[in-house]
Amino acid sequence: MTMNRRAFLGTSVAASVALASPMVLADGHAKPRVVVVGGGAGGATAARYIAKDSKGAVDVTLIEPTRTYYTCFFSNLYLGGFKEIEDIGHSYGNMAANGVNVVHDWAVGVDRDTKTVTLAGGASLKYDKLILSPGIDFVDMAVPGWDISAQNAMPHAYKAGSQTELLKAKLMAMPQGGTFAMVAPPNPYRCPPGPYERVSMVAHFLKNNNPSAKIIVADPKPKFSKMALFQEGWANHYDGMVDWIGEEFGGGNVSVEPDAMMLTIDGEETKVDVCNVIPAMKAGKIADMAGVTDGNWAPVNAVDMSTKADPDVYVLGDAAQQGDMPKSGFSANSQAKVCANAVRGALTGSKVFPAKFSNTCWSLIDTNDGVKVGATYEATDEKIAKVDGFISATGESAELRKATYEESEGWYSGITADMFGAKA
Ligand SMILES: Cc1cc2nc3c(=O)[nH]c(=O)nc-3n(C[C@H](O)[C@H](O)[C@H](O)COP(=O)(O)OP(=O)(O)OC[C@H]3O[C@@H](n4cnc5c(N)ncnc54)[C@H](O)[C@@H]3O)c2cc1C
Repeated sequence: MTMNRRAFLGTSVAASVALASPMVLADGHAKPRVVVVGGGAGGATAARYIAKDSKGAVDVTLIEPTRTYYTCFFSNLYLGGFKEIEDIGHSYGNMAANGVNVVHDWAVGVDRDTKTVTLAGGASLKYDKLILSPGIDFVDMAVPGWDISAQNAMPHAYKAGSQTELLKAKLMAMPQGGTFAMVAPPNPYRCPPGPYERVSMVAHFLKNNNPSAKIIVADPKPKFSKMALFQEGWANHYDGMVDWIGEEFGGGNVSVEPDAMMLTIDGEETKVDVCNVIPAMKAGKIADMAGVTDGNWAPVNAVDMSTKADPDVYVLGDAAQQGDMPKSGFSANSQAKVCANAVRGALTGSKVFPAKFSNTCWSLIDTNDGVKVGATYEATDEKIAKVDGFISATGESAELRKATYEESEGWYSGITADMFGAKA
């Protein structure tokens, strides 16, 4: 399957329709109100689709603290030198033209009894439906020696923006022949191929700028997404540069000393020059504060992404525990369209389409060497269930790999326009 912007925008089209009954509004407000927390892949898409498709019949407010959203997708390509930081930054300037009321603030509380969201600035907002798409936070002390106060010495760069720029600056400042280390996360985590695309992009940078440098990856997992494809690529392009230490060699038995730039793997200490610690993850904190999580994630109903805890609170994207979909921007965007359709139907009585989902994750290994993995999904009573999938093969031609990379560029422009709207 090839993917360009138009093809991507059609990924959520569904076949048959049903009519929903409009919801009765609790406090007699003239229009139903939707509050969306988090203006990323899930939240921005959901807010824009509900506002645009309801044509003013629903009040939609998006709460997002940052004024520029840096996509994690393609942030590894910035590390590799294929993109500039400006290429992955997006403003919310077009959202108002699409009917979304954007409030730049943090949501700091949710009262599900009074259906109220409280903001750090002191305001409170009433909702009829609340959509949470806060992305991820990190599990405390998941990597002994590392906490959020160590993120300057040992960046995670797993929320894009200043962290990504910091990691790039450290990479550029590495001494010749130095060591770049990564502590990879345990499952489940945001973007399964993300750490390994990052290793590829770091290796690409080092090959051109610091060819005697080494990369160590300490990994608690025995295998990882697109493993054969990445390992083939590392052997072809960066022979001898990458030392991946998986679970069986103690890759999960790791601690760090950020002040000393020391990494200990299975008792063996190594002084490193750059250390990218990507800790275990959990749902963004506001999901926990809203009381819709069970453990680290928020369980949801596959048919509309409503939470198991509350039918009027929905969770999208990385924070959701939904079944078979990987935690990706493509998945969050796909889930958001299903959710937006269901929420609009519940509030206005508009048609509700059967839930269908899709995902593709592209990764760049070296110049024009792109690979992908993807699948389609459907909603069952238990979960979002995989229907069928595909993956690039090892040994593919250079032409096919180049076409795969070009496809990912089409997807990127498509998803970012779908999230933030075309320029007014
Ligand atoms: C290195 C890397 C590479 C990746 N590559 C890809 C890729 O190639 N393809 C792909 O599909 N996915 C990729 N991903 C994954 C993708 O970025 C995430 O899965 C996706 O962004 C999840 O969307 P989300 O809406 O759940 O969270 P996010 O997009 O992270 O959005 C969450 C938003 O919520 C806001 N927020 C959090 N808490 C609050 C609060 N209390 N109040 C208000 N706002 C709040 C945050 O500021 C943020 O803007 C990659 C990730 C990484 C780290």
